[in-house]
Amino acid sequence: WSDALTKALPLLHVLEGRGNEAVFVGGSVRDTLLGKKLKDVDIATSATPEEVIAAFPHTIPTGLQHGTVTVVHDGETYEITTFRTESAYEQFRRPSEVQFVTSLEADLLRRDFTINSMAMRADGTIVDPFRGLTDLRRGVLRCVGDADARLQEDALRIVRAVRFAAAYKLRIAHGTWRAILRHRELLKHIAMERIGLELDKMVGGSGPQQAAALLAVSELLAYTKEPLPEPLAVAAAKYREDKQSSIRSRLRARQTEEHSSPVQQAAIRALIELAQPEDRWAALCIALQFTEEQGEELFAALKYATARNAQLAAVIGLHRKLTSSCDSLSREQLSDQWVRLIVGKFGIAAARGWLRIMRAIPALLPPSLLQLKLDSQSSQQATAGVELLAELELRMDKLPAVRLKDLAVRGSDVQDLQKGRQAGPWLGQTMNELLLATALGEVPNEKEPLLNYAAHLFAIGSVAN
Ligand code: ATP
Ligand code: MG
Repeated sequence: WSDALTKALPLLHVLEGRGNEAVFVGGSVRDTLLGKKLKDVDIATSATPEEVIAAFPHTIPTGLQHGTVTVVHDGETYEITTFRTESAYEQFRRPSEVQFVTSLEADLLRRDFTINSMAMRADGTIVDPFRGLTDLRRGVLRCVGDADARLQEDALRIVRAVRFAAAYKLRIAHGTWRAILRHRELLKHIAMERIGLELDKMVGGSGPQQAAALLAVSELLAYTKEPLPEPLAVAAAKYREDKQSSIRSRLRARQTEEHSSPVQQAAIRALIELAQPEDRWAALCIALQFTEEQGEELFAALKYATARNAQLAAVIGLHRKLTSSCDSLSREQLSDQWVRLIVGKFGIAAARGWLRIMRAIPALLPPSLLQLKLDSQSSQQATAGVELLAELELRMDKLPAVRLKDLAVRGSDVQDLQKGRQAGPWLGQTMNELLLATALGEVPNEKEPLLNYAAHLFAIGSVAN
C-alpha cells in the first residue's frame, strides 16, 4: 500500500457504500505491485457517471462520453471511469462511443496489456484475470487476449507496447511482437499528437535506450501518418546493421568488428543521465546529426508546442555552429566565439542546455573543440572536456549583459544620438552590436562608453540604414 492509494481509499468506500463496485485500476495497480512511486491513481466503478457526480461534492465532468468523471478529494484529482467496453472500433482508432457494462472483468478485457489489466479492491485483493502479475514478475509485456485483435482495434497500442517494454525493461511476448510487426502499417491511421505523446514519454522515461532499440528494430517510425526526418530512419537502419554484423561476428567468433556509430550508441546509452526530456531530445538530435531544420521538422510533425521547437532548434544550432566554426581557434578565440554565438544568436537558455548535454554525454563534444591530438588518452580527453566546459560556463556567467534590457542604455538614448531618428531595423541592430561589445569586453556596460561606441558605429557606417 502506498500513501497515494491510502489517500484515495475513501473514494472507493464512498462508492461501495452506495452499493457500487469500485476498484483501483491500470498504472496505479501495476506500479504499486512493483513498489514504484505512483503518478496518478485511476479508479473504475460500476456506478454510472451521473451516480459518480451525485456521490461526491466536488466533481469535474472531464470525459463524460467515455464515462470519466474527475473527482477532487483532499487536494488531489482522481479520474473515476465507469466500467465499459469498446466494441465498436472505427478505423483502427479508439471509438468515439463506449458501452457501459456492469462487470469489472469486461472492463479489464478492453485494456491493452496484461500488466495494465489488473485491479485492486479496497481490501487489497488483486483482480487479475489475465495473469498480469505473472507477466510482471517474469518481465513480459503481453497483449490482453488476442494480440492481433488488440492492435487492430487501436493501433496506438503498437507504440504503447514499445513504451511500456522500454520503461519497465520488459521482453515483448513473441505473439505480441509478431502482431506489432504484422500491423505496424496501421500506424498511419493514428493522429500524430498521440504518437508524439508516447514518444515524449519514451524519451523522457526510464528506458530511452531500450525504446530507441525497439523502435529501430521494429522500424515503427517509418509507418507514421506524417513522415519524420530522415536521420531517424538512417540511425535505425545503422542500428539494425550493427546488430546483424555483431550476430554474424559472434557466429564467426570474431569480436573485433567495429560498430559503425560508436558515438551515437554511446550517446543513446547516456541519455538517461540527463534529467530533462528537452535535453534528451536535443542530445538525441545532436547524436543523430540533425540540422536545426530537421529538429524543427521533427517537433512539428509530433505536434509539440512551438516554444519547445524553438529551444530545440537553438541547442542544435549552437552545437553545429560551435562544431563548424571553431576549427583551429585558440582557446581565447573559442571563448569569444562562444559569447558571440550565445549573445548574438542562440541565447543563454540554449547555452545552458548545451552545457548540460555535453557534461552528461562527453562523447558528443566536437573533437575540433577540444583540439586534441589523436594520440591523447581518453582520460586526458575527459579532463580536457570538463575543463573546457567549466571555462565556457564561467565566461557565460560573467557576462555583464545578456539581454537588451540588461544594457545601461535604452533604445531611446541611441535614437537621441541620431537626433530622434525613427526606430527601425537600424536600432535593433545597433543595440545588438552594443550588447555584443559588452559581452566581448570591448566596452563597459555604462551609459557614456556605450553611447560613444554607438556614435563610432554610425561614424564608420557599420550599421545599415
Ligand atoms: P502511465 O500513466 O504511467 O503512463 P498508465 O498505465 O496509467 O501508465 P495511461 O495511458 O494513463 O497508462 O492509461 C491508464 C490505463 O488505461 C492503462 O493502464 C490501460 O489499462 C488503459 N489504457 C490506456 N490507453 C489504452 C489503450 N490505447 N488501449 C487500451 N487500454 C488503454
Ligand atoms: Mg496513467
